[in-house]
Amino acid sequence: MEFDLIDRIRRHTDVHRDDVLTGIGDDAAVVAVPAGRELAVAVDTLVEGVHFPVGTAAADIGWKALAVNLSDLAAMGATPAWALLALTLPDSDEAFVDGLARGFAELATPLRLALIGGDTTRGPLTVTVVVHGFTAPGDALLRSGARAGDAIMVTGTLGDAAAGLRCLAEADASPYAALIERLNRPTPRVAAGNGLRGIATACIDVSDGLVADLGHICKASGVGAEIDAAMLPRSSALLTHFEDADTIDFALSGGDDYELCFTVPADRAGEVSANMARLGGGATRIGRIVEGAGVRVLGLDGAEMVLSRAGWNHFVA
Ligand code: ADP
Ligand code: MG
Repeated sequence: MEFDLIDRIRRHTDVHRDDVLTGIGDDAAVVAVPAGRELAVAVDTLVEGVHFPVGTAAADIGWKALAVNLSDLAAMGATPAWALLALTLPDSDEAFVDGLARGFAELATPLRLALIGGDTTRGPLTVTVVVHGFTAPGDALLRSGARAGDAIMVTGTLGDAAAGLRCLAEADASPYAALIERLNRPTPRVAAGNGLRGIATACIDVSDGLVADLGHICKASGVGAEIDAAMLPRSSALLTHFEDADTIDFALSGGDDYELCFTVPADRAGEVSANMARLGGGATRIGRIVEGAGVRVLGLDGAEMVLSRAGWNHFVA
């Protein structure tokens, strides 16, 4: 039974690479890191009902489990190579495993990412993926290099996934398909991350929300940040369905977008925008690194905003 499931996964995810010496089927995979490369490794777990809603399509779960991991590699500027997939399933549902492996492969195959092993156990639905990627020695994008005066930039658009999650509760969610797609099928910015090597001074992927994740860059770099709310890139789908203030809220604190937030020397922001536009998705300058600590947000009227329980509000003295 279990072997049959593993075989199904293998059939869907058949990517050949010369650096995989032994793949699925033995006690461990054997791989060869190319000479002169460093290995970036990340792992992330998705638990049903916590990281994706109950009822999410199997293919979307497979896609997202890989996407959130590739996003971590992207944020390091690494090129993906190999993955491991640990599946915990409530029962041995072949259609579900087929769907999950198909969604995983839709993302993995074009990137030539090889699935080299995993584990399959019974229990509450949980998907763990380990990814491995290559970087040049000393070239990984860290969180710690931001300097006062750097421009803060973000790829793509922000807030869509959090808005999509809210729209799932609607009786008819069909008008919000574009937002829900961003929740279920996030695009890891692999090419963007690669393109930032040697240029970005710090980089992180936005999984918990822009302010929280930019806060990690500030802490690691020993600097502060100022964001202009008016500059936050928001999709036409988000702007169509929500009030302006809500779109800002989603963009500042909504998680699950898996865009890259990064810093560059201010005089290179224009060049980076042009590069990122060529790669698809683009990148927008949203603020600046300053001396000090923490993230400040300037609202649409230029006044500082503060986070309340309900979300971001104008600061009222
Ligand atoms: P073991 O008892 O040695 O861990 P398993 O039956 O768990 O053996 O795995 C057999 C082979 O199948 C191994 O190569 C393992 O990496 C692979 N494998 C198991 N589960 C998965 C999975 N969900 N996805 C990909 N490969 C898997
Ligand atoms: Mg095992």
